[in-house]
Amino acid sequence: MKYSFKIGSVWNIPIELHFTFLLLILAVFLLSLPSLQFYTFFIVLFLFVFVVFHELAHSILARHYGIKVRKIVLYPIGGVSEIEEIPDNPSQEWRIAIAGPLISLVIGFILLGVSLLLSPNLLSRILLFSPTTGEFLFDLALLNILLGVFNLIPAFPMDGGRAFRAILADRMKFSDATRYAVNLGKIFGFVMIVSGFFVNFFLIIVGLFVYLGASEEGEQTIISTKLVDVRVKDVMQSEVGRVGPKQTILEALEVMFKNRYHDILVEDEGVLAGIVSWSELMKIAPDQRGDLLIEQMPLLKISINEDESILEANKIIHKEKIGLIPVVKKGDPYKTVGVITGEAITKAFEQAKNR
Ligand SMILES: [Zn+2]
Repeated sequence: MKYSFKIGSVWNIPIELHFTFLLLILAVFLLSLPSLQFYTFFIVLFLFVFVVFHELAHSILARHYGIKVRKIVLYPIGGVSEIEEIPDNPSQEWRIAIAGPLISLVIGFILLGVSLLLSPNLLSRILLFSPTTGEFLFDLALLNILLGVFNLIPAFPMDGGRAFRAILADRMKFSDATRYAVNLGKIFGFVMIVSGFFVNFFLIIVGLFVYLGASEEGEQTIISTKLVDVRVKDVMQSEVGRVGPKQTILEALEVMFKNRYHDILVEDEGVLAGIVSWSELMKIAPDQRGDLLIEQMPLLKISINEDESILEANKIIHKEKIGLIPVVKKGDPYKTVGVITGEAITKAFEQAKNR
């Protein structure tokens, strides 16, 4: 998802703010202006610093297990660690899921201890568990504890739900475990939305997030697990349109239109050289396309083995922002046996969804 921008990075993990988060901060600030009471504003600001700690705990443990962490994005309802892939090791997944809430609880109890040392009379307020005493540390403590406890609810895609799925996945197929966790997540989401009308408006928003998040991520995971066994050679086109380095851009465009490619595959005397992307070709003005040769264009050296999973092909296509990848034979990285296109992958995804 776009509409977020980087504010910094910790241990090489980029931290981004989503624009809706800025709207929240702005709204709280504007609401504070008339009375010049900035208490809530600072509470929200500090709470999100602790949300970053929470997310860092997930990210750092994930990285410890060798899993790539793309970034942390802050949304108004909390943070999200974008982790490259789902750990196929359930015992790692539940540990990564639990690390965040655990840190929130630890921070919460430390802050609680300090605030009680400073003003022991707050002890009686703990039973009310209402973080609106006007005591900064105490309120932050309760909010962190709330953040920890709340995230432990086994409602997928919240942390507790992920841990729940991992525990199930130890005993059954990953896609079945996801299905159970998703259904439980939907039930929790629904209960949150309904009870939000009686308890707190914020609960409705979180409930919606849980309900929609569970549906969406559940579907994604189930599709992925269905597709993991589909090989590149199962969906590739084996008729390949190619050009040589001495051909013109105009000729390349003709081959592309005929084959409905988005990029052009370049071969030099039967040896795969790479691809020239559509966006590079389009940079050349139409009246120059008859003169300029393919070898004068920037070449992207890219290919995929025919036995790879199409999930891997999908990853490359999105990362490189291209429309096709040359498919090569195992053991011969310069022998093209076909091409896999973005459309073919999308079609396979659609089929998996309807299966
Ligand atoms: Zn978390």
